[in-house]
Amino acid sequence: MYADVLVEIKAKQVDKTFTYSIPNFLIENIKVGCLVTVYFGKKEVEGYVLKIHNEAPDFQTKDIISIKNEVPVLNEEMIELGYYLKEETLCSLSACYGAMLPKALKAKKGTKVNKKYQVYLQIVPEKISKLTALQEQIINLFTNQTKILKKEAQQISPSGTNTLIKKGILKEVLKEEYRYELANDQKDFKKELTNEQQLAVKTIQKSFAKSATFLLHGVTGSGKTEVYLQLIEKVLKEGKTALVLVPEISLTPQLIERFNARFPQKIAVLHSHLNDGERFDEWRKITKKEVSIVIGARSAIFAPLENIGIIILDEEHSESYKQENNPKYHAKKVAQKRSETWHCPLVLGSATPSLDSMARVLKKRYCYIPMKKRALALKLPEISLVDMTEEVKQNHLILSRELEYEIITRLNKKEQIVLLLNRRGYSTIISCANCGYTYKCPHCEITLTYHKTKNQLRCHYCGYTKFVEKTCPKCHENSLNYYGLGTEKLEEYVKEVFPTAKILRMDADSTQNKGKLEEITKAFQEKKYDILLGTQMVSKGLDFPNVTLVGILNADSTLNIPDYKSNERSFSLLSQASGRAGRSTKLGKVIIQTYNKEQPILKFVANHDYNSYFKYEMRIRKTLKYPPFYYLAQVKIKGKDYQIVTEEIIKAKNYLTKNIDQKSIILGPAPSNPFLMNNIYSYELLIKYRYDEKLITALKELDTIYSTNSKVSLDIDISY
Ligand code: ADP
Ligand code: ZN
Repeated sequence: MYADVLVEIKAKQVDKTFTYSIPNFLIENIKVGCLVTVYFGKKEVEGYVLKIHNEAPDFQTKDIISIKNEVPVLNEEMIELGYYLKEETLCSLSACYGAMLPKALKAKKGTKVNKKYQVYLQIVPEKISKLTALQEQIINLFTNQTKILKKEAQQISPSGTNTLIKKGILKEVLKEEYRYELANDQKDFKKELTNEQQLAVKTIQKSFAKSATFLLHGVTGSGKTEVYLQLIEKVLKEGKTALVLVPEISLTPQLIERFNARFPQKIAVLHSHLNDGERFDEWRKITKKEVSIVIGARSAIFAPLENIGIIILDEEHSESYKQENNPKYHAKKVAQKRSETWHCPLVLGSATPSLDSMARVLKKRYCYIPMKKRALALKLPEISLVDMTEEVKQNHLILSRELEYEIITRLNKKEQIVLLLNRRGYSTIISCANCGYTYKCPHCEITLTYHKTKNQLRCHYCGYTKFVEKTCPKCHENSLNYYGLGTEKLEEYVKEVFPTAKILRMDADSTQNKGKLEEITKAFQEKKYDILLGTQMVSKGLDFPNVTLVGILNADSTLNIPDYKSNERSFSLLSQASGRAGRSTKLGKVIIQTYNKEQPILKFVANHDYNSYFKYEMRIRKTLKYPPFYYLAQVKIKGKDYQIVTEEIIKAKNYLTKNIDQKSIILGPAPSNPFLMNNIYSYELLIKYRYDEKLITALKELDTIYSTNSKVSLDIDISY
């Protein structure tokens, strides 16, 4: 017997299986999907068994050394999914399996994650003889149970416990223990569905046992979660399982508790706050079929659930479903694939569907289910736009007068407030404090980024550059400014203005330690604080009934990002954040501060007008040939030597120009954003295409050409 093994070696050239012979002592235990150790050259490496067969190859085979795990780490569906992923992302097969598996089960040297055991004691009644008083006390622990924790017996008497074990009266047994347990103190009751919710559940239920995609477009607070919960209940009744994906940032303790309260003991959770041991345990709960629901972030799409009855992607518009590193997969596509495999519905839920999904609705590829009303509140919150250029003249640089006033009224009424200041990960922007002007590229509908090294403004798509003037090119005031307010500074400021208010900050820094996010959420929920301020973390998924005011401090920061997606991103962020206000029975209010009150996107947000936003943005995308009218592929060249990188990117462009369809458009080369990171320079090309049969072949060839280049590396993202 032979096994084809995919060995884990970093080099791209060995991304294929090698045939090994199976020694007799392993034949019983080896299965497809097993993790094994083999010799590769003289090195001992790990690999996945992808095939077992009888075809002797025409070379002398080596034996498999050992099997690393008693149960296969990959089942058949996952093996196939790996091949699919490789095609989709042009990434190596072993990297694909690497992305699918928890660290403990990956083929890799030195990843040892152990199972955790607890020592229990069992009684052997026929061995009982004369006992001392202490021993008697220990034996009495077994009155109502067949086994107890060894620790418990030791608490009575360590030496007594040892003697009983020595005499054979007590027997030690090891029991595997899971490290991650959900608290079971939350109550959550099944709700009577609203008409819209009922219709949604019925429509989707009709497609149980079919592979169909639904876009559940429900305004914030419309009760999408309740729809998911009731669908899952029906799925479980049919003896099937459910896979629920949520963006990492929305995978709040609040949400997990809500699911767990409804389906106690049935849930495995997969998110990045788990350590390797916990993740390994959650994974095994799934493969041992001890749970029937998996909730997790992006990579949970690879959870080895079988017999899936429904897949739910909440906040389907979220960019976090796209993996930025290799393999650069999109969880939505993988979800679609798995929905086909299991013949089950895929539900995409959002208050602000992606243009991509909505376009698919128009093409009748997805089934559209709107929910326009909030489940509890009578109305959506009132949103007002505040012109910060006026405020700045009055020296109100951070909080506008209106927002300040509204905060005071809430504080007096003991209602809660959420303030959003989104400052994460954006390069510096130069804008005019007087008129709100920001530099835009004359060739693209995107803003220019300031590069400090050359004191230059640049367009990251077409490569256009410009020097920064001393004065504003529009109003000629000497008022060009760096925008530079972060959440910490905001916290300080708010404390100063409202000295009696209790304030909590939620951002990547304040939630770094384990359990901190839970703590903050809980404290705010229990009304121990008046104001919750933070980055976009505060805008997603949270459901605080007592929040009646949301303030968005710098709406422009997301709109000014040099990316064709910045309008889409802004619309959904601002709508989501607004959606935190007035979710229960009290009416909510939202204040959006901006230097650009006429910005169409802000108006659409203020009017809760998704449809107009959709039409507006689609027109721009069509004119500028961006998705969903064109597909995009991104090709990057990265390296330490600036000169070589810029030369190679031009060579790559020339190669592609010759080898892809004439109708496809290649933009660039342009510097990546950021174009220098960890001393590595990066330049990129953007390929816009519709039907280009030659593209994938050309990219694969280009990939092969660069796989042996030691000076630069090539990075391809075909679903950019
Ligand atoms: P979404 O996810 O669409 O923003 P949620 O599912 O969080 O909305 O629901 C918003 C609020 O309405 C929650 O507090 C939820 O408990 C409540 N809710 C949802 N559906 C119902 C219903 N049918 N009856 C009563 N309350 C509901
Ligand atoms: Zn100006």
